Amino acid sequence: MTDLLREVDEMPLSVLDTPASSLHDILGGPTLFHLAGQREPALFVSVLMHGNETSGWDSIRQVLRGFRSGEGLDLPRSLSLFVGNTAAAKVGVRHLPDQPDYNRVWPGSETSGTPEHDLMRQVVDTMAGREIFASVDVHNNTGLNPHYACVNVLEHQSLHLAALFGRIVVYFVRPRGVASMAMAALGPSVTLECGKVGQPRGVEHAAEYLEACLHLAEIPSHRVATHDIDLYHTVAIVRVPPQHEFSFGDGQAEISFSRNLDTMNFRELPVGSLIAECNGALRKPLDVRDEQDHAVAERYFRVEDGRLVTRVPVMPSMLTCNPEVIRQDCLCYLMERYNDHLADAG
Ligand SMILES: [Zn+2]
Repeated sequence: MTDLLREVDEMPLSVLDTPASSLHDILGGPTLFHLAGQREPALFVSVLMHGNETSGWDSIRQVLRGFRSGEGLDLPRSLSLFVGNTAAAKVGVRHLPDQPDYNRVWPGSETSGTPEHDLMRQVVDTMAGREIFASVDVHNNTGLNPHYACVNVLEHQSLHLAALFGRIVVYFVRPRGVASMAMAALGPSVTLECGKVGQPRGVEHAAEYLEACLHLAEIPSHRVATHDIDLYHTVAIVRVPPQHEFSFGDGQAEISFSRNLDTMNFRELPVGSLIAECNGALRKPLDVRDEQDHAVAERYFRVEDGRLVTRVPVMPSMLTCNPEVIRQDCLCYLMERYNDHLADAG
């Protein structure tokens, strides 16, 4: 078993004044707080799975400050708060070079064998023993994206929990090993995408949401009305193969993406939309994987006269112009509208 996880039943109020970058010095590493409230079971909230995505920590500490009472907290519902990659948060990166991505190593992951895999297994096992009301994992992204919630199972309580954050709901089953997928085994579960780091609206929105979740008596289990949400399904993950160089808008590298690539997020792109200019004889500039991890680049893109264009109507999400994110994670996801499948939800 790992010794990475710290588990504590109280939180000194001074922790609430601590920015994400200082948590490691105070907590010493990943920490699971169990804070008692008036109702059981606890809401499970995870933050800083990615060390540079600070809106989760900033929102939950804002919520907790609002429930201060004397020397302690008076919460409407118990809260189990998992503060993840404090070491990466200290230096403001997604994860350290010698760490795996903390949101790819939860039970159900396609990888195994690191202390972080044990850590996440321990968190899930602990919460399985205590039961949860719901699970919320809070993230930021880097491109221009609306705020939205993600679910990993088409199940009405999770869809209600997602719709509470906003109209846009994304259903995905890849990548594997994400927190919300593992926690879905224990109760309704969502990932929140709160836009870019440093935007006050992202923190505000997540804080309003988390406070509302703590006040909820129950999560509806009836069918979500199709006119209440815009449901999208992630059908593919797009990556730039590591051997290809890329740049934005200058035409210098093998692949030159449009400078404003991320303005295409959550837009239905017509056939023939320009994604990039490709130098020389580059035939397969992108690696595209479907839900079964099959290579499907030809289904979505083609190269014509050195121009990489879309071949079918698609809607991208999480397109980013940040080279580091593209190398560490991916270029974007491709989605299709999925409201027609709401009737199949369990
Ligand atoms: Zn993230």
